[in-house]
Amino acid sequence: MSQTFPPGVSSEAFFACADAIAGAAKDLAALGWTPATSSNFSMRVDDSHAAITISGRDKGRLDRDDIMLIDLDGQAVGTDARPSAETALHTQVYRRWPDTRVVLHTHSRTQSVASRLFAAQGSIRLEGWELQKAITGFHTHESMLQIPVFPNTQHMPELVARVEAWLDAGKPLHAYLIDGHGIYTWGRDMAETRRHLEALEFLLACELDLRRLSA
Ligand SMILES: [Zn+2]
Repeated sequence: MSQTFPPGVSSEAFFACADAIAGAAKDLAALGWTPATSSNFSMRVDDSHAAITISGRDKGRLDRDDIMLIDLDGQAVGTDARPSAETALHTQVYRRWPDTRVVLHTHSRTQSVASRLFAAQGSIRLEGWELQKAITGFHTHESMLQIPVFPNTQHMPELVARVEAWLDAGKPLHAYLIDGHGIYTWGRDMAETRRHLEALEFLLACELDLRRLSA
């Protein structure tokens, strides 16, 4: 399956995104955060297109052929490949925040366990951790970082609607968990987004340890 490019879409820009996604995915897979071909990654190519991982590929071994072009409605562009089943959750972020360029979604064990543990209360409130400052916009541990946990579903419009409802309620959103599933986070470039993901993984692991030790 080969990727072609409609007029106005830069193949160089797409391949730069594809290479950045493959590089990040390899590192995240090595950490064990993308088991059994799960997880998906995307990067904005221009104002109306993104590069995203093709469904079902081993995230530790991605190359350019495993990444495809989509428009911001989640439709394949210039290829017959099938984008990730969760593409709508990526394009929602790009449509909502024009300066967001990267969305990372992983399924680590820590993310999965934390999502189950906090699902009943609907969110996790992170407070008093120095590493909250790794999230753009946070400048002190004396702040509260709230990560919602949405119910899992295979019906993406339902999840999209839950994210919209959270935002429409005026609540800040830097990441969200899906119950029994994994985490979504994003940023203005790959470095910022990886920093967010690593910080959140660390913070969730700390919260789980606290509960284990105080049981
Ligand atoms: Zn997933």
